[in-house]
Amino acid sequence: MSRSRLLVLAALAALVAAFFAFGGHRYLTLEQLRAHQAAVQDYHASHPWSTALAYFLVYVAVTGLSLPGAAVLTLFGGAVFGLVWGTVIVSFASSIGATLAFLASRFLLRDWVQATFGDRLRPVNEGVAKEGAFYLFALRLVPAFPFFVINLVMGLTPIRAWTFYWVSQLGMLAGTVVYVYAGAQLGEFRFSGGLIAAFTLLGLFPLLAKKVLEALKARRVYARWPRPARFDRNLVVIGAGSAGLVSAYIAAAVKAKVTLVEKHRMGGDCLNTGCVPSKALIKTARVLSTIRRAKEYGLKSASAEFDFAEVMERVQRVVKQIEPHDSIERYESLGVECLHGEAKIASPWTVEIQRQDGSKTALTTRSIVIAAGGRPFVPPIPGIEDTGYYTSDTLWDLRVLPRRLVVLGGGPIGCELAQAFQRLGAQVTQVEMLPRLLVREDPEIAELVAQRFREEGVDLRLAHKAKEFRAEGGRKVLICEHEGRDLAIEFDALLVAVGRVANTAGYGLEALGIPTGPGRTVQTNEYLQTAYPNIYACGDVAGPYQFTHTAAHQAWYAAVNALFGGLKKFRADYAVIPWATFTDPEVARVGLNETEAKERGIACEVTRYGLDELDRAIADEEAHGVVKVLTVPGKDRILGVTIAGEHAGDLLAEFVAAMRHGIGLNKILGTIHIYPTLAEANKYAAGVWKKAHAPQRLLRHVERFHAWLRG
Ligand SMILES: Cc1cc2nc3c(=O)[nH]c(=O)nc-3n(C[C@H](O)[C@H](O)[C@H](O)COP(=O)(O)OP(=O)(O)OC[C@H]3O[C@@H](n4cnc5c(N)ncnc54)[C@H](O)[C@@H]3O)c2cc1C
Repeated sequence: MSRSRLLVLAALAALVAAFFAFGGHRYLTLEQLRAHQAAVQDYHASHPWSTALAYFLVYVAVTGLSLPGAAVLTLFGGAVFGLVWGTVIVSFASSIGATLAFLASRFLLRDWVQATFGDRLRPVNEGVAKEGAFYLFALRLVPAFPFFVINLVMGLTPIRAWTFYWVSQLGMLAGTVVYVYAGAQLGEFRFSGGLIAAFTLLGLFPLLAKKVLEALKARRVYARWPRPARFDRNLVVIGAGSAGLVSAYIAAAVKAKVTLVEKHRMGGDCLNTGCVPSKALIKTARVLSTIRRAKEYGLKSASAEFDFAEVMERVQRVVKQIEPHDSIERYESLGVECLHGEAKIASPWTVEIQRQDGSKTALTTRSIVIAAGGRPFVPPIPGIEDTGYYTSDTLWDLRVLPRRLVVLGGGPIGCELAQAFQRLGAQVTQVEMLPRLLVREDPEIAELVAQRFREEGVDLRLAHKAKEFRAEGGRKVLICEHEGRDLAIEFDALLVAVGRVANTAGYGLEALGIPTGPGRTVQTNEYLQTAYPNIYACGDVAGPYQFTHTAAHQAWYAAVNALFGGLKKFRADYAVIPWATFTDPEVARVGLNETEAKERGIACEVTRYGLDELDRAIADEEAHGVVKVLTVPGKDRILGVTIAGEHAGDLLAEFVAAMRHGIGLNKILGTIHIYPTLAEANKYAAGVWKKAHAPQRLLRHVERFHAWLRG
């Protein structure tokens, strides 16, 4: 730090220390100021200018040095100077004091903070450069953060000092008037209508300010769009996947006029290329795996003859069987208008639909729900387009089993499909850049899956980074980097499963200026509103989760808020979100796992119950896996559960309900579970926890009691 900065820092520190040393903080309390109020008022009557000046200087010093007491001083200003003069003096003093604190923070810390955290602060800097004034205004109007914190933090950003000053003065004005008014009423020391009004205003002010701010924000985003005088629809939903179907269903159920637009296939990814076909394929692969394990079941031998093309046809049969659940006929019968075509948001209240026959329809609507889903991400690895690849979108067209299949990606989709294809007879090489599979799960859980994969013959290449694809004389080769060395993996087909990205392009978001957030999903607030309060987003397009059940969960909030948000809005609740990866062993999780608890510094107890001890699992030859429960130390409140094993996804449901409704392990232990079922594992896990918390001292006394009874 330079000399000048050190000097300023020392001077400020000395002033703050002096304030506390001389008991300044004890003077700046309502009781103290009230005690001196009469004297100050008398003095003010005879010396109005000098009183005002002294008060002004004290106020500037307190706020400039970020000392506690500004709110009390404001009330006192109202009591002594009255509403008009109190407001004028406080408004200028607080803005000048805030700007001094801002400048001090900027002079002392900004360079260092920006140099040290520059990369991480880039989005903040860009945001402040673009919208700093409005952002500051919002902070001032709705005091979400303490006054002095805003001054100091803003000093670290690139906002101009003059902008900071005038925006602060303007933004704080309404609050200043309310506080000074309250002070003026308090000054009269009698129970009056004015005093009640002042207190009511103080309580209501943040709420009113929030409403004003929302209205201001809305005005800003809608300013350039003409609003239709009337609307054709209450709601238009874009995309008929899990999120869109549920949004439209809810709207129709509450008698809104709703149109659902789908450009491809009703049911979206889950039905056509995701959950349904993958689970159907996994089932056939599982049957094959069980047949191969015939000896374990006491059978001499068993074998299966099959044609891969027929297996894939069965998968399509399953899709066809479920299709009616998501069909146009069903949704039309529920009261949803279904249009086949590509939707484009032309204005915040207009959706244009381009039909396949070339015709165009434009619908005006009060609200829009974007449920446009996502698609597989294909990394730009050199050569990948030349060698060709499958994704979860195209895999279902395969009718010839590839002899050697490379699966790129060790996440849930990559793992489910890698194991299924290995079981169907392909030689699968699974390539993952990270040192383990299923990186969101605990290492011990991921290792259970990896161990099973290896036993079944999957060539697991962890910590292998795909660098290049080559097509050499009819041979396809993947070049990977592993521990600093390049190695080649030959293959016949490649499945890319390295993640999914939201569909955000081509349907009007850019023209409307609807921003995307982390993970390139459409940015929404807690009510699932985009930058336009009447346009909502849910499902894979909005994130943060990419599951059918979370898409449906969000869809409820999006539809209800879109239709009734004017009366009451609901925050999307992500408190208890479960998911499963349908490998063998299946992995299911809800809430925290051990890794996250450590990373976030959350204290917890970990209870494990091994499924190798469970009667039913033993009888089924599936005695492997674990139930792992995290609880609050010393209490039975569940923080999270991971289950790895047969039907883990089904077993988890009991814990999901328990967490959702605040039921602890004691109650799970006290619930009768049918014998012999896999679900008993949950009770036994609760039993392990209970045993560890048995009251040892009491048990010793009971033991003595029994001994005494025996004589
Ligand atoms: C292989 C695989 C397995 C999976 N397994 C599971 C699982 O077991 N469990 C689970 O919970 N999740 C699973 N998922 C994830 C699940 O499929 C998705 O989370 C879910 O489909 C998301 O639903 P959505 O409605 O947000 O999007 P989508 O289902 O993708 O639907 C979006 C729809 O919007 C349409 N659309 C897009 N733009 C427009 C436009 N401009 N106009 C009109 N229509 C448009 C698209 O055509 C699409 O039909 C799996 C995914 C994959 C790929």
